[in-house]
Amino acid sequence: MNQQASPSLSLSNPHPKGVNWQQKAALALFGIGLLILLFAWLGGQVWNPFQALLLALGLISGSAWWYARAEYGGKPAGIKNNAVMFRSLSNRGLWGWIAGVMISGFYICLYWYPETMKGLIEMFEAPSRALRGQAADQWFVYGSFYTLAVLLMGAKFIWKYRHNRYQVIRTVSVMFFQLIFSFLIPAFMQLMHQPEFYFTYFWPLKSEYLFPDKISYLTQKYTHLGVFLVFWGAVMSFIAVPVLTYFFGKRWYCSWVCGCGALAETAGDPFRTLSDKSLRAWRIERWLIHSVLVFIVLTTLLAWLNSWQQGAILGDLSQGFSKTYGFLIGSIFSGVIGTGFYPILGSRGWCRFGCPQAAILGIFQKYFSRFRITVNGGQCISCGNCSTYCEMGIDVKAYAQRGQDVVRASCVGCGICSAVCPRGVLRLENGADDVRERAQDARAFHIGEDGVKLNDH
Ligand code: SF4
Ligand code: SF4
Repeated sequence: MNQQASPSLSLSNPHPKGVNWQQKAALALFGIGLLILLFAWLGGQVWNPFQALLLALGLISGSAWWYARAEYGGKPAGIKNNAVMFRSLSNRGLWGWIAGVMISGFYICLYWYPETMKGLIEMFEAPSRALRGQAADQWFVYGSFYTLAVLLMGAKFIWKYRHNRYQVIRTVSVMFFQLIFSFLIPAFMQLMHQPEFYFTYFWPLKSEYLFPDKISYLTQKYTHLGVFLVFWGAVMSFIAVPVLTYFFGKRWYCSWVCGCGALAETAGDPFRTLSDKSLRAWRIERWLIHSVLVFIVLTTLLAWLNSWQQGAILGDLSQGFSKTYGFLIGSIFSGVIGTGFYPILGSRGWCRFGCPQAAILGIFQKYFSRFRITVNGGQCISCGNCSTYCEMGIDVKAYAQRGQDVVRASCVGCGICSAVCPRGVLRLENGADDVRERAQDARAFHIGEDGVKLNDH
């Protein structure tokens, strides 16, 4: 080793570069694609909105592929998180903050100032007419970008984890559900003059699906189909959720089906290390997510009470709850903060701290599920990779060091802790062991302020 040229004594010297020249060129093309969109957004006259859209999306998609190829192509399979702690974007540097502000700004325009997006919406006129049979609006633009991000970043994710069957299959699954169930089927239903309906979202995440006014609207306007849709939503909420979670844990939904999870697992992958692992964050998480669940249960109950026994006070209360929930939780928490703050809070901020669906799935997972991460504690070398890359902020290492199975309400079963473990310590299983016994184990796992104390009572 040339000591003068490379004074570091690190075994990994020379350090891998943050980005090579091909990635810089890809990023430049990506920037040009974004600039075209921004130009149209700001009201610039593009020669032909649809052709400009194709050019912009072509540049963005092609450059994303080129970037991933430069990162993973021609190299042996195996997870490479090179420089993730040093890149400005993935480590809360200047680019991370710029990205956070831009994505949050996009959400703010989307929810409250869609008129400012006129030029951008116009670019989507032709695909919207073809897919939905109606004029484009901000939600179609949003759905298109969202789906494209899941597909592009999902392909990049698969390339990165190509040696790991579990990661490949579940990523194909979230890409499939996002494209078909959350984008094409709702669009097709509109094309057929049917209600826009999302089969992969149900109460309480899509809370209005069990609200009395939505049920009356669906069943009265769309009769048989409307009854089926209401029935589907109720079956998924009250039967499929407990049954599937009993067998597979919450991962069947959070890491295989849900659109929020789809974006977090694909576009959010570089930000998974940013999740707060502190005890304080764990406490906030438990209070916050269960408060949101209580909030939506109350809102739903009030809506039903109001529909049975109409009165001025009950009506005002129900409307107030409904509006506050929509504004605070539906828009600000799940949208602006949940996605906009990926580069600041990590990719699962909404899933961890706010999603009421995750709260219900978590309760089932912790107390009535076969799912757990089993630990071969004797092999653990305490490297901490598992905790570092856990997007839900779970200190997996603390469990591994004690040889204790991980049974946590928040675990979404992404399997990354197991994938990054150099010793094969962790294994995701749907065992048939005594569920009650494991629930007792989960309750007995406590970490004190002063460090780790497990099974202390
Ligand atoms: S504990 Fe492992 S499987 Fe669970 S959320 Fe964290 S990284 Fe994913
Ligand atoms: S990644 Fe594996 S070896 Fe490292 S601390 Fe976690 S369980 Fe132990």
